[in-house]
Amino acid sequence: MAEKASGKVDMEKIVSLCQRRGYIFPSSEIYGGLSSCWDYGPLGVELKRNIKEAWWRSVVQERDDMVGLDTSILMHPQVWVASGHLEQFADPLVECKQCHLRWRADELKDNSCPSCGGEVTEPQQFNLMFKTFMGPVEEDANIVYLRPETAQGMFVNFQNILNTTRKRLPFGVAQIGKAFRNEITTGNFIFRSREFEQMEIEYFVKPGTDDEWFDYWLEERYNWYVNLGIKKENLQLRQHAKGELAHYARKCYDIDYLFPMGWSELEGVANRGDFDLTQHATHSGKSLSYLDEETNQHIVPCVIEPSAGVDRSALAFLCDAYVEEPDKEEIRVLLRFHPTIAPVKVAVLPLSKRENLVELAKKVYADLRPCWMVQYDDTQSIGRRYRRQDEIGTPFCVTVDFQSLEDNQATIRERDSMNQIRVPISELKSTLQAKLEGEDLFVLPQGSQIWKVEREEKSV
Ligand code: ATP
Repeated sequence: MAEKASGKVDMEKIVSLCQRRGYIFPSSEIYGGLSSCWDYGPLGVELKRNIKEAWWRSVVQERDDMVGLDTSILMHPQVWVASGHLEQFADPLVECKQCHLRWRADELKDNSCPSCGGEVTEPQQFNLMFKTFMGPVEEDANIVYLRPETAQGMFVNFQNILNTTRKRLPFGVAQIGKAFRNEITTGNFIFRSREFEQMEIEYFVKPGTDDEWFDYWLEERYNWYVNLGIKKENLQLRQHAKGELAHYARKCYDIDYLFPMGWSELEGVANRGDFDLTQHATHSGKSLSYLDEETNQHIVPCVIEPSAGVDRSALAFLCDAYVEEPDKEEIRVLLRFHPTIAPVKVAVLPLSKRENLVELAKKVYADLRPCWMVQYDDTQSIGRRYRRQDEIGTPFCVTVDFQSLEDNQATIRERDSMNQIRVPISELKSTLQAKLEGEDLFVLPQGSQIWKVEREEKSV
């Protein structure tokens, strides 16, 4: 069966699965929710952690030209003057003269309100930064902003990084953290919210090499999604037209994903030139230059910035993994997550609640838990429990049955093919490790056997 492009997945189905299974809940739900704010439930938090860890591993841990950082959300107000956010980080806002709903002017098809058709006002620039006050007195002198991006924390620490790590160009800084934007229009579930998380890289290079590093990072970031299972047909690169470029950018590409509402930005890759370091040097009066040892000259590096959203990535992984398959008379819903992304890696299921089976299954569960996120489930029929694990995207189930009590073997069942193998319990850990790393299910450890092939034909 051919899989549908995720653009055809119904957003309502994703939202409903997320709420039903504990991925994502509306924020403060018992009070009626708070518009465009979301809480990640027990599975959602694992999904997000896996995304962030996979990103960190690929852009920090596995590279010797990158270091990590974790800077504060509240920063000196001058940061936002220097970065241009105070003046330029605004969207054109219009208000309906009839129903008083507010809209982003550039998102309207004509000059009428999408809700009631009423006439809208002239656009006014609306700054997207959230304001708050530092200290006990609420006056203008104490205004600070919740950061609208994590990037500035990396620029203002440029000298600190140079001094403490002795990195030489080209090198980069990576940061994961919350950002806040008072978006005029939100929606499409976690795609656009007012509080979200970013995974950003600022990669500093010698001027003149910025174009080639831009191409490098665009490819690198595109491949990161593909290597974690996102289908290529659901990804596209889109270059920003001149008029669309942000005030700091020389060049920018979006990595777009085919979300249920259509192609939309998943990550932006920008060549910010030397804009940020120059601006912060000017406004702070501190030198943010770099001594080029080859020429013995002080230079201001250029910056390539791949900026991704954790929440948009989570939504893309969810949409891309969502599959409905006919299964006998029913529909099997599954999330075909790459094992690295799957919130739960293994589920341990005793065939029945008989005491001696439960005892053995719990031993297996305890043994596997230090290695991965593992669930134990002994409720309802085994078929139902498999379906539940399919629906949350667990790659492998381990079933302990009556024969296990005699031969000390257990069954491993694979989510996508539903094929099963039977392996000695002593080999479970190493076998599951290999399978989670991509080894074929039918590569068997000694003493194992192919137990059952529920379905001859795999859905492709
Ligand atoms: P958009 O045009 O969709 O508003 P943007 O171009 O303003 O996005 P950037 O400033 O490039 O976004 O931010 C980098 C990344 O941060 C985006 O690619 C996205 O993944 C994430 N992001 C930005 N705004 C939001 C938001 N309101 N909600 C969730 N994620 C966001």
